[in-house]
Amino acid sequence: MVTEKLMLIFPPNIVKKPVVYRIVKDFDLEFNILRAEITSDLEGKMLLEIKGSKERINECKSYLVKEGVELEEAAKGIILDKDKCVNCGICISLCLGKAFYLKDNYEVNFDQNKCILCGLCLNCCPVKAIKSKI
Ligand code: SF4
Ligand code: SF4
Repeated sequence: MVTEKLMLIFPPNIVKKPVVYRIVKDFDLEFNILRAEITSDLEGKMLLEIKGSKERINECKSYLVKEGVELEEAAKGIILDKDKCVNCGICISLCLGKAFYLKDNYEVNFDQNKCILCGLCLNCCPVKAIKSKI
């Protein structure tokens, strides 16, 4: 059993297609919707955490791509450059997912598993220690 975070991007022509419910029905996977939005140009974006066998997850990904959904691996979406970070704590106060936190030694650390890719932290860092791969 593995857990993966995936960003699903629905182009406007398929944004109303009921593809997500089939993740449970056809592929026997558990999922949590961590974030969902429709952009001003009617593109849909959904951040899912899916849990199940690696094989079933891969089958599910193939199905989604076949239906026209773009997939982005979200696991490494946000990166904290510890060499640049000056531990000011601004990102901690902004982070919706509580992914940035203070360690016992007062260093700021980042837990990718908690990140919901809201993007709020991207422009907050005074020394540009936070980067995005998405
Ligand atoms: S805002 Fe930037 S410098 Fe400040 S703690 Fe966060 S990552 Fe480090
Ligand atoms: S993208 Fe959002 S949840 Fe993720 S680290 Fe930045 S502020 Fe926190």
